Amino acid sequence: MNYLIETYGCQMNTAESASFLLVLKERGWVQARNKEDADLVLINTCSVRATAERRVRGRIAQYEALKRKRPFTLIIAGCMASRLGDTLKTDYKAVDYVMGTASRPLFPHILEALEGGIPFVEDTEKPAFSFAPFHLEDGRFCSFIPITHGCDNFCSYCVVPYVRGPEISRDPAAIFAEIRLVAEKGAREIMLLGQNVNSYYWDGGSVGKNLDFPRLLEAVAAEIEKTPIRWIRFLSSHPKDLSTRVIRVMADRPAFCRHLHLCAQHGSNAILRAMNRRYSREQYLELVDEIRGAMPDITFSTDMLIGFPGEMKEDHAQTLDLMERVRFLYAYMYHYNPREGTPAFEMPGRIGQGLKRKRLGEVIALQKQHTLELLQNRVGSRETVLVEGVSRRNAEELLTRTERDERVVVPGKRCMIGSFAELTLESLWGNTFRAKELSLCPGD
Ligand code: SF4
Repeated sequence: MNYLIETYGCQMNTAESASFLLVLKERGWVQARNKEDADLVLINTCSVRATAERRVRGRIAQYEALKRKRPFTLIIAGCMASRLGDTLKTDYKAVDYVMGTASRPLFPHILEALEGGIPFVEDTEKPAFSFAPFHLEDGRFCSFIPITHGCDNFCSYCVVPYVRGPEISRDPAAIFAEIRLVAEKGAREIMLLGQNVNSYYWDGGSVGKNLDFPRLLEAVAAEIEKTPIRWIRFLSSHPKDLSTRVIRVMADRPAFCRHLHLCAQHGSNAILRAMNRRYSREQYLELVDEIRGAMPDITFSTDMLIGFPGEMKEDHAQTLDLMERVRFLYAYMYHYNPREGTPAFEMPGRIGQGLKRKRLGEVIALQKQHTLELLQNRVGSRETVLVEGVSRRNAEELLTRTERDERVVVPGKRCMIGSFAELTLESLWGNTFRAKELSLCPGD
């Protein structure tokens, strides 16, 4: 039988889709060539922004039209499924199953029913949440390893705590087992994932007594030394929880890539307070200074949310100023859209669409300038890269990435894919470096 998975949203969803894939492959399902060919379509959805939900609704409507021509099973999974539940079935007759993030353990049972040609009848008792085992896709070398699920932070604009529920930390024994497994499958880099990885905490037994995030990082760094994995990243970091101990562990261990995604969201204290972010711009900037003091070559990326209710001209200027001070390598920049059910939805002082767009345009323009300047300053550097695959533009060239999260294209042989290599950043083309040649690192 054939399947098709569509994934929207964050890396967490990518990791969760990979775990669906693992279940499908283990049961002998094959990827469909296209949607006309699929017996099962699974849409793994995102609820963070209203636009993400609108896009998914558009896709469901398309599948609804297709289903009028031929039968297949449509499953809606992920955050939208958790948030809207069975109303999705009422809105779209084509939807067969709605599987929120907590009901993922039902997936093998749904497949079993499909394989037997019978409808799956859901038990009234919902299964308890469990972390799904991850599967490294063929041809991929960076493996996502979820370490927490859910969030307790309740930023005033965000639906995640309501959709994914309270934060749960994963058993370290399962984390280490998964690291060993993906290493066997060819992973060279891992990304520890969670809504706020810094608040990881496990107190469940001999492996993990009082295991907080810095101690977990030390243990993971020790674990990968027994494997071919060389690089570790983690995402996302909440600035209020990123401690000096985490910085020290990163600085002391070369396995931690010199790149950090540190969500700022805004540069004004008044707006950060209204967002319930629980840090000030001064604390954010001090944290960046502390991290740079320990790892001078590190790059930062961030999220910026523009046009939050009550945002004055002066607040917006503070965001631009914070960006000037930090100089992020790249940023995910959005304007605020009200999300029903969040405290911000009720806040006065909504900013008009035109002004939001104008301010967002200014933020994007400044970020583009910073990205370009930072990258131009790097031309001439000698770098270690992970060879990730073939360049999309030229089959004779390889696509590689530095530990600072910069893309480099270089001529090379396909047998080098999945290896670490050294090269010189010769020139810049858009936001991608070009190199003339690469040489494999010792042992690769
Ligand atoms: S930290 Fe804030 S923005 Fe991030 S998932 Fe939690 S509530 Fe949402």
